[in-house]
Amino acid sequence: MGTSEQKHTCGRCRKPSEHMTVSVFTSDCICLDCAGDEEGASGYLQALEMRRQAEERGDTSFAGIGFSSADLRHVTVHRLRRQLRTLLDRCVHEEQFSARDSLIVQLRLALADGSGTCWTRSQNACK
Ligand SMILES: [Zn+2]
Repeated sequence: MGTSEQKHTCGRCRKPSEHMTVSVFTSDCICLDCAGDEEGASGYLQALEMRRQAEERGDTSFAGIGFSSADLRHVTVHRLRRQLRTLLDRCVHEEQFSARDSLIVQLRLALADGSGTCWTRSQNACK
């Protein structure tokens, strides 16, 4: 759908991006940075293998195996760190400080117990 110049908003980090891909763990449409976060998760190879098996048997409705709490924690922490870094690079206006503080709180939560802000499985599915 659309041309290659068209920008999509990543369902996970909200960054506008030209290049999107499907999550290995879920059916979410995500940017390449978020896809990179998934690659370091401990369940990545298993998720990839399950997806490959689903493709092999022609299961087009396979939505991924979902995140274990450890994998969710991994991608959440990496996403928040990236978002924080981006924000700090251009954090010159006072109104951005509250966004920065909110990210720091979320990051602290994610590091503490693996929760933090996350997303639902089906909300950002590729159309
Ligand atoms: Zn993203």
